[in-house]
Amino acid sequence: MTASARPDARRNASPYLYGPEAAAIARVLQDGQYGHTGITEEFERRVADFLGVPDAVAVASGTAALHTALLAAGIGPGHEVIVPSMTFCATVQAILAVGASPCFVDIDPATLCVSDQLVMSAVTDKTAAVMPVLFGGQPVDLSAVREELDERGIVVIEDAAHAFGSRQGARRIGAGRMATTCFSFGPIKNLTCGQGGMVIPRTPAEADALRRIRLLGMVQSQGERANTTTYRVNTFGLRYQLSGLNAAIGLVQLEAFQAAEATRRNLWRTYRDALAPLDGVTLVDVDVDQAVPHLCQVRIRQRDTVFADLRSRDIGVGVHYPPNHTQPAFTAWHRSLPATEQAGQEILSLPFHQHLTPTDIDRVASSSNRPSSPPEVRDAQAPDCVPWKLLP
Ligand SMILES: *Cc1c(COP(=O)(O)O)cnc(C)c1O
Repeated sequence: MTASARPDARRNASPYLYGPEAAAIARVLQDGQYGHTGITEEFERRVADFLGVPDAVAVASGTAALHTALLAAGIGPGHEVIVPSMTFCATVQAILAVGASPCFVDIDPATLCVSDQLVMSAVTDKTAAVMPVLFGGQPVDLSAVREELDERGIVVIEDAAHAFGSRQGARRIGAGRMATTCFSFGPIKNLTCGQGGMVIPRTPAEADALRRIRLLGMVQSQGERANTTTYRVNTFGLRYQLSGLNAAIGLVQLEAFQAAEATRRNLWRTYRDALAPLDGVTLVDVDVDQAVPHLCQVRIRQRDTVFADLRSRDIGVGVHYPPNHTQPAFTAWHRSLPATEQAGQEILSLPFHQHLTPTDIDRVASSSNRPSSPPEVRDAQAPDCVPWKLLP
């Protein structure tokens, strides 16, 4: 009989609270500042300062960040958006939400990210945007093809949901001026607001557009509205602002972020050392001097067997992600992506969050080496694609 895993190793991911979050929420509740308020604006300023950028626009989720950024860039029906299939489905849904078509591209098997060549090989006359995904927290450098993209009027909107705090050279992700950057502050991200997101715009005009779209297309700020008898709606917009309750959590988390960075890097290095002697287990390498790691992923041949075995030992493994081009809802945009498909069979995410201890990690690593149960047989599923129609 095997001992059960410590509770923390049973979870693949888990939010980490530093303590003052509860009191911060209680203060917001007492003040009644639940909506988009001064607290949200303070969180925007603090994030901008932390990243070393002039402005940051808070929104309700990472998905809302991607959607708002695409809307502000004018991406819509008739446009193609180049996106890796190896991402969370949210990236693809944001593209569909504006009525554009995802153009799935393959990944570099070493990083699980797109490369400049892979992106350029997918460009067509309809390409309006590229959405690189900063997988696991790693930067994606498209600077070599920047001029070509600019000449074609193709914008770059980074899905940096995994990459809050990561660096690209001397700068934090978001501070490079080539891309609009979208962060998620969902429950299991490097920094959490409970739910939340942030867009880092490249220009003041873009910031202005993002602010209007996230607040139902209304022109005035909340403060101005209080002093006038009416408001004006001059663009399409959604209820996408970040609530004061969520921003209050984010402020506490940002204050403690140095600890988060150090812990995540140390845990990742502990995994690296513990996994190094294992045969047939290949760590997806991350430059943790630059990146704040978001996942600890390995590649394993008999992934499904190992997955079932670790789950039976109460170890919270996961798969990030089943490729999107094989999802029933996205079959219309299917194309052959060999590196993605192979990765889809081999990747396994080990428990990775700030509650883990080095002992948990040793236990996970030693268990990863000795599958004992037969492979799980999974039913081949017929695509159950729901027909649906976008905007007229
Ligand atoms: C989490 C995540 C998102 C979406 O963020 P939410 O805050 O959950 O809406 C988008 N892309 C990737 C790669 C993510 O991991």
